[in-house]
Amino acid sequence: MVLEIVKYGHPALRQPGAPIAAVTEDIRRLAEDLLETMHAAQGVGLAAQQVGRPLQMFVVDVRGVTDRPSTLEIAGQPADPPSLMPLVLINPKVTPLNDAVTGPEGCLSFPEIYADITRPESVEVHALNERGQPVHFRCGGLLAKAIQHEQDHIRGILFIDRMSAATRRQLQPELDALQARTKAELARPKAQAH
Ligand code: ZN
Repeated sequence: MVLEIVKYGHPALRQPGAPIAAVTEDIRRLAEDLLETMHAAQGVGLAAQQVGRPLQMFVVDVRGVTDRPSTLEIAGQPADPPSLMPLVLINPKVTPLNDAVTGPEGCLSFPEIYADITRPESVEVHALNERGQPVHFRCGGLLAKAIQHEQDHIRGILFIDRMSAATRRQLQPELDALQARTKAELARPKAQAH
């Protein structure tokens, strides 16, 4: 099911995610819905916070992007990134492996807003998948960038927190307008369904 993606100004985006104690049927359904919602929005990643569920869980799929490469290493061997997609990561631990690089980023909760963000180029990931099995890999490039962006989401951190002060200042009027729009929508009484 395609879910509504909440926008900047929605309180769920600032809520640190609760760890997932057991990968239940409800969690598996949420994983499927996150994937469906992300694909429908043509995004490369989506966190549970972005559909209003503050949990330590996100999905990533970089197959749709051809101009920004990803690298993948499983058990010390190079692997083909699409072979791991789509990714569902539950209770992930993400460890930076090397120096930071700067590149453009967007976010489905911030429509039409893009900025350069600096993050480590590659990371090591330990998590559970949607079947509750441990997964462990190293990755770089776009995949590492997407994973770090989503890892921030599940801790209530947003990409605007990582922008340079100058970029943030420049985008502030757009951010304020988006936040005000979201808050106005939340304040409006919901139509009754019959
Ligand atoms: Zn995002």
